Amino acid sequence: MKDGLSEKSIYRKNYTVYPWDVSQLDIHFDIGSETTTVRAEMEFQLKDGARDSQDIVLNGSDLQLISLSLNGRTLSADDYVVDGETLTISGAPPKSVLKTEVKIHPANNSALEGLYLSGDFLLTQCEAQGFRKITWFPDRPDVMAAYRVTMEADRSEFPVLLSNGNRAEAGESAGGRHWVRWEDPFPKPSYLFALVAGDLELVEEHFTTRSGRDVVLRIYVETENLDRCAHAMESLVNAMRWDEERFDLEYDLNIYHIVATNDFNMGAMENKSLNIFNSKYVLARPDTATDADYQGIEGVIGHEYFHNWTGNRVTCRDWFQLTLKEGLTVFRDEEFSADMQSRAVKRIRVVRDLRSRQFPEDDGPMSHPIRPDRYVEINNFYTSTVYQKGAAIIRMYHTLLGEAGFQKGMKLYFERHDGHAVTCDDFLAAMADANGINLDRFGRWYSQSGTPQVHVSDHYDTATQTYTLTLKQRTPATYDQKDKQELVIPFAVGLLTASGEELPLQLETGTDIVQGTRLLVMEEAQQEYSFVNIPEHPVPSLFRDYSAPVKIFYDYSAEQLATLIAHDSDAFVRWDAAQRIAQNAILEQCRRHAKGLEMTLDSSLFKAFRGILSDRLADPALLAEAMIMPDEDYLAEQMEIVDVDGIHAAREFIRKGLANGLKTLFVERYNELNDGQSYQKSSKAMARRALKNVCLFYLIETDVGESLTAAQLKSSDNMTDTLAAIKGLILMESPLAVTALSDFESKWKTDALVMDKWFMMQAMKPGPGTVNKVKELMQHPAFSIQNPNKVRSLIGVFAMLNPTGFHAADGSGYTFHADRVIELDGLNPQVAARMASAFNRWKRYDEDRKMLMKSQLQRIAAVDNLSGDVSEIVNNALR
Ligand SMILES: [Zn+2]
Repeated sequence: MKDGLSEKSIYRKNYTVYPWDVSQLDIHFDIGSETTTVRAEMEFQLKDGARDSQDIVLNGSDLQLISLSLNGRTLSADDYVVDGETLTISGAPPKSVLKTEVKIHPANNSALEGLYLSGDFLLTQCEAQGFRKITWFPDRPDVMAAYRVTMEADRSEFPVLLSNGNRAEAGESAGGRHWVRWEDPFPKPSYLFALVAGDLELVEEHFTTRSGRDVVLRIYVETENLDRCAHAMESLVNAMRWDEERFDLEYDLNIYHIVATNDFNMGAMENKSLNIFNSKYVLARPDTATDADYQGIEGVIGHEYFHNWTGNRVTCRDWFQLTLKEGLTVFRDEEFSADMQSRAVKRIRVVRDLRSRQFPEDDGPMSHPIRPDRYVEINNFYTSTVYQKGAAIIRMYHTLLGEAGFQKGMKLYFERHDGHAVTCDDFLAAMADANGINLDRFGRWYSQSGTPQVHVSDHYDTATQTYTLTLKQRTPATYDQKDKQELVIPFAVGLLTASGEELPLQLETGTDIVQGTRLLVMEEAQQEYSFVNIPEHPVPSLFRDYSAPVKIFYDYSAEQLATLIAHDSDAFVRWDAAQRIAQNAILEQCRRHAKGLEMTLDSSLFKAFRGILSDRLADPALLAEAMIMPDEDYLAEQMEIVDVDGIHAAREFIRKGLANGLKTLFVERYNELNDGQSYQKSSKAMARRALKNVCLFYLIETDVGESLTAAQLKSSDNMTDTLAAIKGLILMESPLAVTALSDFESKWKTDALVMDKWFMMQAMKPGPGTVNKVKELMQHPAFSIQNPNKVRSLIGVFAMLNPTGFHAADGSGYTFHADRVIELDGLNPQVAARMASAFNRWKRYDEDRKMLMKSQLQRIAAVDNLSGDVSEIVNNALR
């Protein structure tokens, strides 16, 4: 087994400036599914200060080179050197025109990078390094050129021809062919190039920007999906208006296109004025998409639109800076969703996601800072760390500087860097300079990996009525970094009386008195904060609004948690207190289960749930969040050695106990919410459905579960209620589940997106038997291993969201999954690598499972010609 990670690694410290400016790229596509011919012409101008004579280095992959000429002279094979993915022409004159012609084969492109076929149409995906699969070019984000793109194709087969920018010219050519020329006036890196050719229909809308520019908005889809675009369009219009109002940013072209495809490796791509979307994040109708899908569409449509400024107008110097555009843009889309829906609910979902996906990453073999120092395959660094933790770090700037200070920083950032490829340091400098403060120490968040732990202890002095909080921060060593430094940690705190009243906060060291939340800034390893005039030992409300992405340790009593749940003004703290009670109870029962003791029910949990179920004032969506128990993976993270079966058994025991103990309350609340009103899209209606379906999730453990679920399924007029009901029937192993699944299948068998849900529901069924079901479902006509959505819905869900299935004691889940990783590696290395990461946490399990997983990792690592993508993941895991 070869490791070879070190010699293949690319290091941030080795960055060098590209010596050439490439001002203009003219590119001509002769479009065909089997073969497309690409002719490119580009002007190279030696940068000021570069040496007189320089090599021109280009990137290319899987290209069939037809011809290459420099300044009018055709180059022969002796005139250049091809080594792997680079082509070097030595000693080119300071002003040079390079012409290339290559052939590529879209229909054979199963990796879905570069130009490929989806259904009957052709499209591109270039981020991060797909452009090199289209033509020879300096395929790096700091080379920014103006693109002029001409596409020529058969008119009947490819009536729609799209690329970035404005449509400049079009015409007919001989033999039923036509051509269109697109010009993008904004210089851009190659990763933002896009092309679409095919027979697509469109829906159209207009948006007038604040300064009066009329923008045509078009969403292109396959004909049968025309009635599913309304929500995406509405979200786009909302996003455009929001970015003007909140960030003072206006759209800059007259046209904005979105194209939806079923074959996409990621969620969506922000190519300048031609976004390409996984259809999952465009298409929605109440009967085909859940409320979560609707919210996901709003968020992703917003995200890609916001990239027009944070990513496209100001882009990344190199791929180590990915979080410059992603962390910032995720922060912007989180704020957009918060402003559109409920801010509190959005915040809680963001925190849940960070804890269950990013924390394990920080603690695993692929740990890296939000700005990594090295990589083998950049596709492996489109991670929760770069995105979600990156956004959490941008949020801390916002918390420290306030909205006005943050916006001042954004303004300076655009003034300085519009039209350039820059670094995370440039962003930090703009924030610091605009606000006249020093953020050097804050900058450590960019270079340090791992989740900081903050241990909080307290002391109340009755005589002086002084309450002191002592905070200690520590970041444990990670796989990639041993030594850690102290970080700047914004710490938002409130203090409550035992009966839940908020206390005014005055620090011993100052005179100002704050009502409600006080923001403190921790910078040292240990800091003390003393509050005066505190009449009783207060209940501390810590890290309000989750003011920093840290693990919080404080030894709360059950009474204190109950006070926070019932009275705290901060939604995050209320939710977190409920999660703590549930987590403590589940882990306690898990320990009893391991010792063979009978499991028992915790009275504080009953009390909390009784309070939540009786609350008629709070937002139902918040109450729903509070009753969703921590997921099994998050609980696993809290254990030294993961007890897969124990966690599952304890969680189920508690769900059953709560459901039966509080059955009357659950039924009452369910019936109130199940009011027979027809479907509405409003966030109020979504909140009611969320709480209703959480109640149902408990009620399936009671004797009324089956009848309620069957009735809900029968009367449902929307996908949210339908899925909740079918999932319930599957979980309770009701014989009705079989019929429900087969009815669902016959209704939706030709609908790719809805069938993803059908696969997902079955792959999630807990227990060791599910692996056989998953194998069987791979033979279903609607399944294809070439389609990333199908792979994620069936194989991905099984490996990542079904702990008792994947971790079956006999290792059958592991063997199955390793076989799929190997199979996928030959087709689509990027997706294969994502799937391989299911084994990342293998060292956290018991000896038997550890050995079983390790041997599967070794089996994958030993495969001949394994891709760099998968090799990086498995070799890091084995290290
Ligand atoms: Zn993005």
